Amino acid sequence: NKFVSILGVPFINTTMDKFIDLVQNHIRKEEKTFVVTANPEIVMHAKKDDTYKKYLDKAHYITADGIGIVKAASIVGDPLPERVSGYDVMMRLLKEANEKGQRVFFLGASEHVLKETVAKTEKDYPGIVIAGSQNGFFDWKDPSLANRIKEAKPDLVFVALGFPRQETWIGQNLDQFEKGVFIGIGGSFDVFSG
Ligand code: UDP
Repeated sequence: NKFVSILGVPFINTTMDKFIDLVQNHIRKEEKTFVVTANPEIVMHAKKDDTYKKYLDKAHYITADGIGIVKAASIVGDPLPERVSGYDVMMRLLKEANEKGQRVFFLGASEHVLKETVAKTEKDYPGIVIAGSQNGFFDWKDPSLANRIKEAKPDLVFVALGFPRQETWIGQNLDQFEKGVFIGIGGSFDVFSG
């Protein structure tokens, strides 16, 4: 099966390698893509919050963020090969972006963590074009952030607002964008910069 359903949430049945190839294909074709890296907390939240579930329904891919989802898949008799976690996906995509000179936008975390994340990217991945950045404490009603992202034309937008904010923000704003891979990655900037 292409998908494994855990309590109504369809997880993509893929290895990390295949998933990264898939994402690179979308970037090459400039296809807008929304990726959710989901843990059991997200699955449970989607069950009780219809609005949040609607945002998840907009996702092109939902990957198994942690071992909890991989175990659940085995229990329902529809195993997933491995976890495809937000942090690991981010690291793999940074590597690809560095090699291919892709444009990356960083959204989320505190101003300090964001600055460190951008600085570390410039140092470790000099091939990446930093398309822009914005800390995670902004006015959601102000359209200027979405406008900045539109103008920056990033290939990749890492959204590190934590759950459920990142899926909500992407779900609410996705229609405005023409291209870009939008991926929620929780507290990954904190880990990356720390
Ligand atoms: N965060 C953010 N905006 C907010 C709240 C949190 O950018 O309004 C960031 C926070 O700085 C951290 C990440 O989101 O980098 C994850 O936050 P938290 O640990 O609260 O979320 P969870 O681990 O539950 O996803």
